[in-house]
Amino acid sequence: MSRKLPASQAVEPEGVTASAEDLLSILDSLDAAVYASDMQTHELLFLNAYGRQTWGAPRGRKCWEVLQEGQSGPCDFCTNDRLLDAQGRPGAPVVWEFQNTQNGRWYQCRDQAIAWHDGRLVRVEIATDITERKALEDALKASHRHAEWLAYRDELTQLLNRRAFFAACQERLATLDPEAPFALLLIDLDRFKLVNDTHGHAAGDRVLREVAKRFQARLRDGDILCRFGGEEFALALPGTSQAAASELAERLRRALSAQPMNYGEASFRVTASFGVVAAASGEADLGMLLQRADQAMYRAKREGRDRVCDSP
Ligand code: GH3
Ligand code: MG
Ligand code: MG
Repeated sequence: MSRKLPASQAVEPEGVTASAEDLLSILDSLDAAVYASDMQTHELLFLNAYGRQTWGAPRGRKCWEVLQEGQSGPCDFCTNDRLLDAQGRPGAPVVWEFQNTQNGRWYQCRDQAIAWHDGRLVRVEIATDITERKALEDALKASHRHAEWLAYRDELTQLLNRRAFFAACQERLATLDPEAPFALLLIDLDRFKLVNDTHGHAAGDRVLREVAKRFQARLRDGDILCRFGGEEFALALPGTSQAAASELAERLRRALSAQPMNYGEASFRVTASFGVVAAASGEADLGMLLQRADQAMYRAKREGRDRVCDSP
């Protein structure tokens, strides 16, 4: 677009020889949208070629009619109020990022109030398309979240890993009423080596995932289950007494023994040995509790496996 302006409107500040026409051609060559709109009426007074190609010609319409989708009045995200100082004079530019409601693309917008040639206040915006940068940022954030998630999870079962289990227990103990009980279960699958030897390692992996699923389905919010290692699981039950923890252990035991595991053609029973311990959370020492739960669990092994033993 080339528009010839009268010489009287040509701009020649100190040392600048560009005509108004030159300035228009500069604005129309920019790789960014530039527009000016009346701050009172919102009339779109100017839109450069980039803007016209993206949103169409202004044709006497208001900025919110041309640039945004589904507006029946000024946008509630309009920055006009922030562009003037306390005296109502043009203030510092406002830089912000926004996803355009018409085309869904992200823009970095640089808004500024200026005095128009006839004295009224006009908002000028320069909007640069940052959609690709936003997409990269989103992908980076997602991969960061995933990496963080992985750092706290066991890959096979998706349960918390040992490190995350300790952190979660400590965090919970710090906020629990010191009088409230804190129970801990150690669970070791019985003769699991035999499952691998008989049905293969992949079957063993499948069993570990299924065990995690069966346990999880029987827990409440706030219970902390982890894959403690190989074929061992740990379960912390904040606020649960030893007796209630033993009952839950019995339900978990039956959840394994009562229903066989199916792998291809094979169907076999998997059992586990449980050690249960509890203490007042004010006195709970995780290392000590684990040691006692471990002793109880080994007693369950010695006494014939597929059973729950309480720590004295
Ligand atoms: P016990 O009843 O005395 O606990 O016998 P067990 O066979 O379960 O105990 P043992 O410690 O001898 O063997 C544990 C087995 O668990 C051996 C190991 O290969 C298997 N195991 C540990 N981690 C995994 C895993 O991620 N996948 C599979 N498939 N097997 C695993
Ligand atoms: Mg073991
Ligand atoms: Mg075992």
